[in-house]
Amino acid sequence: MDNATPMLKQYHEIKRQYPGTILFFRLGDFYEMFYEDAVLGARELEITLTARNKERGNPIPMCGVPYHAATSYIAKLVRKGYRVAICDQLEQPGKGTKLVKREVVRVITPGTAIDAQLLDGKENCYLASVCGNGSAMAVAFVDISTGEFLATEFSGEQAWGKLLQEIERFAPKEILYPKALEALISPSKPKETSDISVGVFAGAPATGLDDWNFDYERSNSLLLSSFKVASLDGFGLAGKKAAIASAGAVLAYVRETQKEAAAHISGINYYEPTNYLILDSATVRNLELVESIDGSRRNTLLATIDQTETGMGARLLRQWLLRPSVNIGELNARLDAVTEAKQSTIMRDKVRRELSSVQDLERLLGRVSLGIANPRDLNSLKSSIATIPAIKQHLSEADSSLLAVLRDDLEELADIREMIEAAIADEPAVNLADGGVIREGFNKELDELRAIRKNAQGYIAAVESRERERTGISSLKVKFNNVFGYFIEISKANLKNVPSDYERKQTLVGAERFTTPELKEYESKVLGAEEQIIEIEQQLFQTLRRAIAEQTQRVQRVAQIFAMLDLLFSMAEIAAKYRYCRPTLHQGEEIMLKASRHPVVEQQGEPFIPNDLYINNTTHRLLIITGPNMGGKSVYLRQIALVSILAQIGSFVPSDEAKIAIVDRIFTRVGASDNLARGRSTFMVEMIETANILNTATARSLVLLDEIGRGTATFDGLSIAWAIAEYLHDNPSHAAKTVFATHYHEMTELAKLLPGVRNYQMAVKEPASQIVFLRKLVEGAASKSYGIEVARLAGLPQPVIERAKEILANLEANELDLTGKPKLARHLPSRGVDWKQQPSLFDAVNSSVLDELRSLPVELLS
Ligand code: ATP
Repeated sequence: MDNATPMLKQYHEIKRQYPGTILFFRLGDFYEMFYEDAVLGARELEITLTARNKERGNPIPMCGVPYHAATSYIAKLVRKGYRVAICDQLEQPGKGTKLVKREVVRVITPGTAIDAQLLDGKENCYLASVCGNGSAMAVAFVDISTGEFLATEFSGEQAWGKLLQEIERFAPKEILYPKALEALISPSKPKETSDISVGVFAGAPATGLDDWNFDYERSNSLLLSSFKVASLDGFGLAGKKAAIASAGAVLAYVRETQKEAAAHISGINYYEPTNYLILDSATVRNLELVESIDGSRRNTLLATIDQTETGMGARLLRQWLLRPSVNIGELNARLDAVTEAKQSTIMRDKVRRELSSVQDLERLLGRVSLGIANPRDLNSLKSSIATIPAIKQHLSEADSSLLAVLRDDLEELADIREMIEAAIADEPAVNLADGGVIREGFNKELDELRAIRKNAQGYIAAVESRERERTGISSLKVKFNNVFGYFIEISKANLKNVPSDYERKQTLVGAERFTTPELKEYESKVLGAEEQIIEIEQQLFQTLRRAIAEQTQRVQRVAQIFAMLDLLFSMAEIAAKYRYCRPTLHQGEEIMLKASRHPVVEQQGEPFIPNDLYINNTTHRLLIITGPNMGGKSVYLRQIALVSILAQIGSFVPSDEAKIAIVDRIFTRVGASDNLARGRSTFMVEMIETANILNTATARSLVLLDEIGRGTATFDGLSIAWAIAEYLHDNPSHAAKTVFATHYHEMTELAKLLPGVRNYQMAVKEPASQIVFLRKLVEGAASKSYGIEVARLAGLPQPVIERAKEILANLEANELDLTGKPKLARHLPSRGVDWKQQPSLFDAVNSSVLDELRSLPVELLS
């Protein structure tokens, strides 16, 4: 490095300040990567790796991307979990060899990306930060594209596990942690560990920071100064030192990467997870709330009920689904609003139509605050704000309390709209450098400069005709090009008539080019005007952007109201379209559903058979559901959970009637056999998840168990299932409302032994030829599981079916041998091993072999 060029020295200097990032180093029209960044960049971006300094015998690996196409390359790297530091030239390269000033202007990381290419409009992009201070573990989440900022803490024995659950629920795009927690977090790293390799924790790229980043004092003062408050108590953070430490660390990281104050992150919300209906990650997955088992977005609850018109509404719906409420007052207010919006079709249509033209205010505002909003972003902001008066008008008749409050709180923001309207042209360029951003008449100086530029055409024409007359050369032309500026062009034939005040500038094949003092002066005025125009436009634009940034909180409030209105009207739309009913919520024990449906399955085309449910904490506290394979047990179980979740976000539900007790947690456990798609089918996983349920369920929880115990041998499985059922039924502290779908008919015996157990079955009709699934839940226990019938429907060869029936008949006749194996095993037609010739040990009872064994002097054997 000693003989490095000044430019490479500068590179190393900057690279040192940004460890763990890929440095995009601006060189003219390219962003170049060097050394190991180049090797990695070339591989990940599939671009050619070249070398610099070859001639000096010390080649340096290098690769580059054109600056105007950089966004998509950066997006590609960030999507793979890398962090990219963008180093720009801060001055125009001048003549001579002077080194251009360069600086990192932004670091783009998976959790701080705000580029449209990297953001999903319907999903939050969270950056998380985890830390612990001995007594408590904390996590903070920030979405820098919207300014949302939350934190929470966990203490006690299970703090770490709960924290993990919370992280999984938020699914952040990047996680920060102090190096002190490295052992606990142990991010999995790829084999080759250069300093830019990405560690992964809880499914997200994890970035370890030095411990001082999580220092409480530092964090505390950063949050105080950012939020311009004297105490954080108002955010619910009193005494929450770990939460403050993680929140401060994440905010500092945002500022460092964005190189901006990020004023739109204007407050933080400390929350207790118990403020929400808790859904663990297995449940979120099993119920396919936001993602289906195959990982797609289709056929999820979210996709089915999302009729929102804006990204803000869609994100709020997702948040609510993952964190439903337990606050009955709040839920009833939402339900009142949905009821009104559903009944008033005209109001609903009008408001929704208006919302459909509203852009993503939250994210526009984020771009304004981070100083990256372009002129068109401001016009989008303006047109979105312009819908407010009409929306208020359409809501003028609303009298449900929530709609009325939202309407009354909705500020018109006329000043901001006018500010943008006055300053920004109707169809501005995206790039400030292209000019034409500021409206005519907004700034006098700008208008004058533009007039000069505009008049150039007329001026040139005037000079041209005057000079033609003066010289008598009718072919004389006044022209302009970027290299020579303005000049007079005269053909060779007319050179003799050139006046003495013309100065020769350039000789062409058939002509000469001249200039005059007058043209020179004019040229500097016009060219100067061009530069000044751009500069003034930039200044005016930035002043406007800053002025809007100062109004962040007012616009944020409007964005929140839009999100809420959009979601309430979306729920009303769904309720009307799919004939949902309003649930009656209460704090008691019973859940009663009449003719309820599975919201997703019922939309899939086949006629859906509705079913009822009654469950409580006493007489019907454990429902055992039996029935054939394919009978509809799993669908029924999930529909109970989905209906409860819908009710607890304040939505109507797919039922004719619904009385719903507010629950604190919903647990679902799907048997190994049903969850193969995710490759998580081991019995161990099943038992870990079940242990979690048994350890955490309360009397206010809803537990849905589907085929527990199926991942192991029949007797083990049945025994475990039985014991679990008893445990959930018996202990008052965790006697949760439980629905247990099973193929073990033996379980139905529990109803005779335990007072709270009820048996239900999925009915089938069994005419002579073929079984018909009625998918109707009726009381009682199924007498058999019809597995063989289903196997026949699936097309298993007839001999296999016949043989299976025979074996079943034997099994049902309890024909087991002493090892617990069906005796029929030995009636198998001899194939390979001849079982008859190889007597089992127990067949040998009373035989001479046994006598011989008995008489062996075991202690003398070696
Ligand atoms: P297995 O024991 O084999 O897991 P199951 O009893 O859990 O079966 P489900 O998976 O719930 O059965 O349902 C089987 C199929 O029946 C589903 O794919 C679904 O399309 C359909 N189905 C379930 N319930 C209903 C219903 N109420 N109305 C109409 N179709 C239904």
